[in-house]
Amino acid sequence: MSTIGILGGGQLARMLALAGAPLGLRFLVVDSSSDACAAQVAPLLRADWRDFDALADFARRIDVATFDFENVPAETAQWLTERVRVFPNPRALAIAQDRYAEKTLFRKIGLDTPAFAVIDSRDDLQRALDEIGAPAILKTRRLGYDGKGQFRLRSRDDVDAAWQALGGAPSILEAFVPFDRELSVVAVRARDGEFRTYPLTQNWHADGILAASLAPAPASEVLAPLAFAHARRIAEELDYVGTFALELFVKGNQLLGNEMAPRVHNSGHWTIEGTPCSQFENHVRAVFGLPLGDATALGPSVMLNWIGQLPDARPILAEPRAHWHDYGKSPRAGRKVGHATLCADSNEEMIERLLRVGQVLDRQAQVAPVVAALRAALG
Ligand code: AMP
Repeated sequence: MSTIGILGGGQLARMLALAGAPLGLRFLVVDSSSDACAAQVAPLLRADWRDFDALADFARRIDVATFDFENVPAETAQWLTERVRVFPNPRALAIAQDRYAEKTLFRKIGLDTPAFAVIDSRDDLQRALDEIGAPAILKTRRLGYDGKGQFRLRSRDDVDAAWQALGGAPSILEAFVPFDRELSVVAVRARDGEFRTYPLTQNWHADGILAASLAPAPASEVLAPLAFAHARRIAEELDYVGTFALELFVKGNQLLGNEMAPRVHNSGHWTIEGTPCSQFENHVRAVFGLPLGDATALGPSVMLNWIGQLPDARPILAEPRAHWHDYGKSPRAGRKVGHATLCADSNEEMIERLLRVGQVLDRQAQVAPVVAALRAALG
């Protein structure tokens, strides 16, 4: 019996443990919070990332370590690699933690990005805004996720407000991209270098947080091979092992790299029911050196995120091929507390289901863009 240690005990760790259990694997989760939701399905070691006595105990009890959270300090990841195998490696984690390093890597491997500049002072911000122009987005280099650590500048008058909002933290200023749509590649790379991608996923955000995903993304025959090639080059450049996500903006036929997540990703949750081998199972397989599983889509899937609080589960459970995921978290504004995945045999069937669910749950605004994308695909 082998044990995977997971740094971070949120819903991603929870779904990793649920995916790994049938393979006969055990899990041990480290989190400083007593109500980490992964602790409902796997043992929890309650400790801080910098509590090296507790981490030494953790390392002794596991065979391999991985992450459900990319903001684990890089020093902690490095310290662990001296005691136990850690996937993905600390360098990959360090690059993905820093928006500047990440975008520099994207450009190095030939993936364009929005125009950006490094900001270390208010003067830098003023100069960069003159160069890049408004609107633009100031993003902290570190510790930003789900739209946190970001400030949108509409004009030059916003410089002071932006600088204050981010507390003068090291940042990048990014051109605002009036994108046509957002796509993500969820991919997995094995220890021996084998690389697989899930079909491209189209994503919709509300207030910087993922609201809905549709896979396979419609009309992406031209873009998919390009996006997959970028993801592969990034994974090879980082000697990455495990599942990761590459988030992209699409403008015309151009792909722009937004960010990468060095872990299983919210835009890949549909793979649990929508493919033969989910992003979670493939991550577990990759870190354990097991053969990778089939990542092809079984048909169209739509994932609806539940933010803040869960809606009534019954209308979803009443649908055929619909799946409910309650993360076991207490409700709080802006918090991801669960999701649902709808699977169907055709786009027409998916549209019908989405309209029904949207109406019964009073979530019309959440399903509307997905329905529009599916209708456009039908022509
Ligand atoms: P991020 O945390 O950087 O992924 O940003 C969250 C969301 O904000 C993205 O998924 C986009 O919907 C939006 N966003 C971020 N950066 C930009 C940008 N440069 N231009 C337009 N929208 C953006």
